Amino acid sequence: MKSDKISRRSTIKGLSAASSAALLGAMSGPWVNTSNAAASDFNEKLAARIAETPLIDTHEHLIEEEDRLAGKNSRIQANDWSFLFSHYINSDMITAGMPKDQYDAFFSAQTDPLQKWDCLESVWPAVRNTGYGQAVEIAVRELYNVDSISRENVQTIQDRYLQTIRPGFYRTVLQERANIESTQVNCLSAPFGETNQPGLLMQDISIVGMHMGPNIQAYAPKAGVEVNDLSDWHRVIDWWFDHYGPYAVAVKSQAAYSRQLDYDDVPAEEAEAPFKKRLQGESLSGAERKKIEDHLFWYSVRKATEHNLPVKLHTGYYAGQNGMPMSRIQGNPAAVTDLCKRSPETNFVFMHICYPFYEEMIAAAKHYTNCHIDMCWSWIISPVAGVNFLKQYLVTAPANKVLTFGGDYIPVEPVLGHAVIARRGIFNALIQLVGEGWLHPDAAMDLIEPIMNGNARRIFHLQEKTRRLQNVPWL
Ligand SMILES: [Zn+2]
Repeated sequence: MKSDKISRRSTIKGLSAASSAALLGAMSGPWVNTSNAAASDFNEKLAARIAETPLIDTHEHLIEEEDRLAGKNSRIQANDWSFLFSHYINSDMITAGMPKDQYDAFFSAQTDPLQKWDCLESVWPAVRNTGYGQAVEIAVRELYNVDSISRENVQTIQDRYLQTIRPGFYRTVLQERANIESTQVNCLSAPFGETNQPGLLMQDISIVGMHMGPNIQAYAPKAGVEVNDLSDWHRVIDWWFDHYGPYAVAVKSQAAYSRQLDYDDVPAEEAEAPFKKRLQGESLSGAERKKIEDHLFWYSVRKATEHNLPVKLHTGYYAGQNGMPMSRIQGNPAAVTDLCKRSPETNFVFMHICYPFYEEMIAAAKHYTNCHIDMCWSWIISPVAGVNFLKQYLVTAPANKVLTFGGDYIPVEPVLGHAVIARRGIFNALIQLVGEGWLHPDAAMDLIEPIMNGNARRIFHLQEKTRRLQNVPWL
């Protein structure tokens, strides 16, 4: 691809023409070319525009770069190339039948990194083609300049793994290589991550521990409130919003991992007595627990809404393996329409397209003004479902309510692989819609910027947040 074909208008600072061309090379393949000259020209233009358009990444779990450099984080078992497999491809390795002793040895810091291929070899052919596997292999190929993950390449992969981890490598991987403008991190070790790179690693406030449990130890000490009743707990929640609300981009809850999203609007008076029992360590009935969770969910959601923060909720597929109750997640789309109806002033962002129940979610976004769908994680759960979702979404529901990328990773390297898969998927969705006659080529071009970054910029108020994040109180 010649550099003169790359528009300067939408390239971000730091992404050189060479990087953009490299990204285009990573995402494209024989499918970019057709025998028809006009169609081929349009294909090339579309692919180039998608490569050069920055993504705003609306969901990650990235640990702080300093912790990666030091290898100091409970999520890092071994600071070698196996770390790239620790999230999410490890689950496919287990469900493919990898024996436990080999799995444990593969991730252990006690195993020589060069011996680790022996553990992976038998299972790799079964998992390398899933989205999880492809994200890792693309990252390795692009970052380490090897053509595949194989016995011959393990030494190079390990050497380059170590060479890559240098101060500033998050910015290199995310911005220069993946053409991601900014990310939104759901910190796993604190309700809000006081990051050293606030403009690059923007943060969500986690509300899951505010309403599930609730997790008093994680929130109350920092707020300096001793919790003796429900109103004390309300004050703790208020503190987190007052303290971090201006610097957060959204709030997030993954409570769907343990319950249905059927939150009744329980008044404080009805939650007070069960909450007292909870504080005294008495056992609670299912109904009592639900009253506490439901009341505190709406308390937190209303606080978020007051602070102009969208509410991100996990829906659909479960991370991990051998535990997902399909009957529960099948009920998510019905539950989310009740949430949208109950609080029209709240902007809900439903994550992961509720895979595999994404068609219902498109109906929800078509019907409810405050329903937004985030494709985060979905491209690697099922790349082809991602294409099908986006194709259907764009000709069914308003295009200003879809978010097309979130890597959802703890390690930063596979975010690059995921971003390549997402760009390929966006390309496929648009080119297929054009080819089938549902979309005019100009309309396809016009959709790229909004779905890749414009919607996120507007929904999460990123102009205002970016300004505020230049001067955070914790740095
Ligand atoms: Zn996540």
